[in-house]
Amino acid sequence: MKMQMINGVKRILIVILLIMLLSFILVVSKSESILASSDDLEKIQIKNVLLPKEYSEPRQSPITHVVLHFTSNAAAKFRDPYRFEEILDIFIEYGVSVHYMIGRKGEVYRLIPENRVAYHAGKGELPGFPKYKDRLNDFSIGIELMGIGTKAEMRTVIPDFIYDFIDPRKIGYTDAQYDTLCQLLEDILVRNSNILRDKNHIIGHDEYAVNRKVDPGSMFDWSRIGL
Ligand SMILES: [Zn+2]
Repeated sequence: MKMQMINGVKRILIVILLIMLLSFILVVSKSESILASSDDLEKIQIKNVLLPKEYSEPRQSPITHVVLHFTSNAAAKFRDPYRFEEILDIFIEYGVSVHYMIGRKGEVYRLIPENRVAYHAGKGELPGFPKYKDRLNDFSIGIELMGIGTKAEMRTVIPDFIYDFIDPRKIGYTDAQYDTLCQLLEDILVRNSNILRDKNHIIGHDEYAVNRKVDPGSMFDWSRIGL
């Protein structure tokens, strides 16, 4: 009888110890994941290369959308299409602007602060948001990825015989760009709670200006950013 009691107490003690161990593991893993996500945000090194004030205007509407684009200097330099300064010159020449640009190695440039409206989306329409007709800039953050689309997508700026000379590694997007874009989006979404993490709020330029724009195009893999 006495032995049975001791065995019973032992069992209870073992159960209590197991529960304590389990909760300890849970607490540790939770704090590790919190640390990992804040580390991610710190990993983004953003270079500030702010455009002059005339390339943006004060923001007066809530930010609800992110618009993704591609950009390059392939029309002029198909062998070396990704020089930041040369791409920036195109923006300046055409009077367009964007909040962020992500280079091929995943580097991020900030051209316009989020609290100002950049000129990246132009005219278009968004299903479900009739008020946004030709006004998406007012409600969005623009992100340009340095990239080149398919031959058909690039046809209006690059003739087919030139496109064939482009190094295939320069077409589409890099792993580093997807990694950085994920971190940048995470960062943007934390600060802008009106941007929902879905395909209605994080969109491609080609979805807004359907007949006018082809970027980020069919080579952009939305599943790599969880959408
Ligand atoms: Zn675009």
